Amino acid sequence: MPLVPLRLVLDHAAANNYGVGAFNVNNMEQIQAIMEAAKETDSPVIVQASRGARSYSQDNYLRHLMLAASELYPQIPVVMHQDHGNCPATCFSAIKYGFTSVMMDGSLMEDAKTPGSYDYNVGVTREVVQVAHAMGVSVEGEIGCLGQVGHAPAAPAKGEAAHHDLETEKEPGDTDGHAASTGGMDTSHLTDPDEAERFVAETKVDALAVAIGTSHGAYKFKTKPTGEVLKMSLIEEIHRRLPNTHLVMHGSSSVPEELQAVIRQYGGTMEETYGVPVEEIQRGIKHGVRKINVDTDCRMAITGAIRKVFAENPRAFDPRDYLKPAREAMKAVVMARMIAFGQAGNATKMRAAGVIK
Ligand SMILES: [Zn+2]
Repeated sequence: MPLVPLRLVLDHAAANNYGVGAFNVNNMEQIQAIMEAAKETDSPVIVQASRGARSYSQDNYLRHLMLAASELYPQIPVVMHQDHGNCPATCFSAIKYGFTSVMMDGSLMEDAKTPGSYDYNVGVTREVVQVAHAMGVSVEGEIGCLGQVGHAPAAPAKGEAAHHDLETEKEPGDTDGHAASTGGMDTSHLTDPDEAERFVAETKVDALAVAIGTSHGAYKFKTKPTGEVLKMSLIEEIHRRLPNTHLVMHGSSSVPEELQAVIRQYGGTMEETYGVPVEEIQRGIKHGVRKINVDTDCRMAITGAIRKVFAENPRAFDPRDYLKPAREAMKAVVMARMIAFGQAGNATKMRAAGVIK
């Protein structure tokens, strides 16, 4: 099946009260892991690439890998989404390369660091919506700023990884390409429900990313966050006002203790950290959250699996020796999320309902 627009999948998710994981990719193995997980769970799926991912993999490779995925899994509805487009040009080039959905993140300026004004955000988002909708492509916008809550590790492991990302690829944390946890709570950046309502009316976005206290990357919370910390009530309020807008939770990796443990067991360094509990995401799904961005968990699964192979078999040097277990480990995480979010079983239902052929 050809790639489908985000709107098509999220409308079905809304009508049937489930959420859809959006998993980030940079290479073939990650795409394969997601597609195999989607096949086994019969899930519609969102595959997304940040600006950094597009530059790492190159647009032509990415485009053809995604076309291969749609050919190999004709039964699975697949959305190809630009994560955190920093300006209209980024979104337009994504559309040119076959993306069926784009995020115009005008909550930050083009440098992906400086907060943008409300008027700036409306202007660039509306510009993208006008072009994208004419091409049958969906648009996600963002109101409020992510990444303002959480904590950076006290002593970043082996030094400069985070900084390196920030300075070179502007791609820390969950690869979204946007600001990572900077430490400290700054509630002024949480989404204001009044603004959210105006923003949707003025831009006509299909989906809206809301800032409720999550941040990108592995280091989100020092203790297990509650619904209060995560401001789940804010999601509920926004959903009450915008019942027909699909809400998006960014930075929604759960950073499971068992994945941390594997990395530590085989020589990696990770400070103790907590992500967004799956049960809080499930609560969000009851209140309009339809797209849930997950990247860190997949990265951790891959890294843990590769570390394990290297630790247990120092003689391994065939890349397949470690990429295959890495792919399997990511697939397991993606399957677990697909089941938890409720998207499992819905590929067949979408076909049965005539939403897709
Ligand atoms: Zn994000």
